[in-house]
Amino acid sequence: MPQKSSPKSRAPKPRTPKAHAPKPRTPKARTPKPRTIAAQALGGVEPATKAVVPPVHVATTFVRDPDNQYRSGYIYGRPDNATVRQAESVIAALEGADAAMLVGSGMSAATIAVMALPGPSHIVTGRVIYWAFRQWLTTEAPRFGHRVDIVDTSDLDAVGKAVRPGKTKLVWVETPGNPLWSLTDIAAVAEIAHRAGARLAVDSTAATPVFTQPLALGADLVMHSATKYLNGHSDVIAGALATAKPDAWWERIRTLRSQHGLILGPFEAWLLLRGLRTLDARVRAATDSAVLLATWLRGHPRIAAVLYPGLPEHPGHAIAARQMSGFGAMLSIRVKGGARAAIATAAKVRLWNRATSLGGVESLLEHRASVEGPDSPCPPDLLRLSVGLEDPEDLFADLDQALRRSA
Ligand code: PLP
Repeated sequence: MPQKSSPKSRAPKPRTPKAHAPKPRTPKARTPKPRTIAAQALGGVEPATKAVVPPVHVATTFVRDPDNQYRSGYIYGRPDNATVRQAESVIAALEGADAAMLVGSGMSAATIAVMALPGPSHIVTGRVIYWAFRQWLTTEAPRFGHRVDIVDTSDLDAVGKAVRPGKTKLVWVETPGNPLWSLTDIAAVAEIAHRAGARLAVDSTAATPVFTQPLALGADLVMHSATKYLNGHSDVIAGALATAKPDAWWERIRTLRSQHGLILGPFEAWLLLRGLRTLDARVRAATDSAVLLATWLRGHPRIAAVLYPGLPEHPGHAIAARQMSGFGAMLSIRVKGGARAAIATAAKVRLWNRATSLGGVESLLEHRASVEGPDSPCPPDLLRLSVGLEDPEDLFADLDQALRRSA
């Protein structure tokens, strides 16, 4: 462990509970806070048994009323499912959305949002976004007649120059953007997009609804790889979309989900609902550890740079401090010695899992350039860290030994 920046010397002292805690504020018309909504899964007590844990609805078909109506609201499992609906309601509440929709993966959420555009469109997107979606936008979207321009969306002038009034139908940003954790000013980009007649969609996977509400900042659509923090246990692949309003675009996304059979499975939706109940606690605890790790690692002799929006030297720090209510649990480190040293460091970890993905309770580490290929803005010496719920001192000690042994 480094002498000056060891966890022991920097870690904040545990807070002692005060004997006289301040009284909670109790406004007259009290709406439950997102954390309360999530913890109780919207208070979904099962009516028949009064169970506090919701059942999994697995039925694929439903009985028609004798007068030929479907009053239950359910007909068939491809367009709709009650367990999926419940998870969607929790996500919509967390995002302050009119409605949410769950599909079988984050990629499928992102791609149907594009496929549901009214016709061949001009799309502006960011350089620093999930690499597989950037690849889909540049290779597959043109087959549907779309034209895609990639810009640095943290640069508002660049976004302003890229949008074409009347022609651009969608601006797609990811903030913080994977894996450099670049920040995009959602409110400013929403204004640029709307002035040009375009919609703004935000991949908010890394921010989570705990720290950012893109719709309140002016975005039209929010997307999550629910595989990550929303589920949080690395055992479900899922994607979520949430809309500000039920417009024609949203209805077409719903139609495509039904026609293409993209709805999330009921068991996956149930697991997701279970994960959502602890979302707030998980994300905040992991973020506390990420803040400590970023601070400790920044002084490490084997590290050239720490990329974390919570650090004042990060280029997106000012936007993050304004736009997010916490800096999140994702960071990247650039290892001195280039790709070879970064890969060697990853090879020597004992506690961190050397694995792709993010947002689970277990900490993961990955050499991203090996995944993203030559078109990526990811530097070759970068390791992406998804901080989980382990003790941050254990996480630091493991990284420290791996960094030292890879020198
Ligand atoms: N968006 C981000 C930010 C991601 O990290 C990922 C996956 O890593 C995706 C989208 C795609 O999600 P999925 O793997 O659930 O399809």
